[in-house]
Amino acid sequence: MTRLCLGCIADDFTGATDLANNLVRAGMRVVQTVGVPSAAPPDDVDAIVVALKSRTIAASEAVAQSLSAFAWLQHHGARQIYFKYCSTFDSTPAGNIGPVTEALMDAMRDQPGASFTIATPAFPDNQRTVFKGHLFVGDRLLNESGMQHHPLTPMRDPDLVRVLQAQVNGKVGLVDYRVVAQGPAAIAARFDALRAEGVAMAIVDGIANDDLLRLGPALAGFPLVTGGSGVAIGLPANFGFAPSAASSALPPAAGAQAIVSGSCSRATHRQVRDFIDRGGAAHAIDPLQAESADASVAAALAWHARQAPGAPALFYSTAEPDAVGAVQARYGVEAAGAMIERVLAAIARGLVQQGVRQLIVAGGETSGACVQALGITQLMIGPQIDPGVPWCHASTGGPPPVPLHLALKSGNFGTDDFFTKAFATLP
Ligand code: ADP
Repeated sequence: MTRLCLGCIADDFTGATDLANNLVRAGMRVVQTVGVPSAAPPDDVDAIVVALKSRTIAASEAVAQSLSAFAWLQHHGARQIYFKYCSTFDSTPAGNIGPVTEALMDAMRDQPGASFTIATPAFPDNQRTVFKGHLFVGDRLLNESGMQHHPLTPMRDPDLVRVLQAQVNGKVGLVDYRVVAQGPAAIAARFDALRAEGVAMAIVDGIANDDLLRLGPALAGFPLVTGGSGVAIGLPANFGFAPSAASSALPPAAGAQAIVSGSCSRATHRQVRDFIDRGGAAHAIDPLQAESADASVAAALAWHARQAPGAPALFYSTAEPDAVGAVQARYGVEAAGAMIERVLAAIARGLVQQGVRQLIVAGGETSGACVQALGITQLMIGPQIDPGVPWCHASTGGPPPVPLHLALKSGNFGTDDFFTKAFATLP
């Protein structure tokens, strides 16, 4: 039998990394792929997370991409499928969580038990709790958490049973916290009762991380599980895995170190400041000063060539809201973002050509652009640096392919000393 236990489909890139990181911490050897691969997966992994970019695209396209990922995972022997979405349940009445879940259930309809699944973004240790079907972000209900203003997926209803029901044809039920507290047998009995009532999917409450560990055993044998990254902490044990250092082992690190930061989030600001305050070598990218994108890239790489070898170098466009606003006013919001992503991605590629083999990228979109520019198609997930951010190991597209240690940090993740700490934790 193939070694592959879990086949995961994630609706965005950094969410995929978050899930992969949880699986590694629970003892699995995990590879994350960028989109649906054309080649076969490595044969020494326990879980694969296929990272899509399907959260906010049209539902029909999200369904098509997810089914293609499912077909690939099933072909390579995945024993359980996990559909991962955002822990704030980012979706609209048109989808995409519901339509993708129903399409996957339909694709698996020949498998025993595939007519029922669960849905829960609960991850209490990360401030996402579900109580009587209502999602809380920290101490606030979802619709008062700021998510009600999200530009693409405004979440104005915290009742996830109602939210999911609006997206699907099947009936949506609830497994409430009192049942979850009683443990796996009670949860399984509640699943049976819901199935008997004709319920197709159930929101599951989770108010403490232990709830997720109680839920895990009740999901053994489910063809399909859906959730945020939290449910994943309870699944590896079903396949006999226990936390171990071996699951996060990566090849030893070598070569020069660099950081590329295009995130303007508050945590990244502090991290850039902390790195500079410690005397770190840093090169600012100022889109208003540069003659052209190419000139920016060339100047950054020339600066890098002059730096003392052995010390990490930081390249950052990270700027205060006023400065970002000025750039956006000149170029337009989208064009400014895309242009800076291109510049930073070209710098990342140039840095690798100049010998960088340990690279931190700050910013979700910036990470996506850098991974694409480097021609990376899959990442082996290593040890966690900070919650949600592991070191990874990958090969660049080449030619020739170059081995690279990578840490992809989305905006608000990581402690202030992240850039210094991360290199220190790499064996
Ligand atoms: P985060 O994870 O913090 O949201 P992202 O990389 O996803 O970071 O998004 C940051 C966006 O801001 C990117 O599109 C990036 O190109 C853009 N950006 C970065 N620096 C600047 C700047 N100085 N002015 C305008 N936009 C910027």
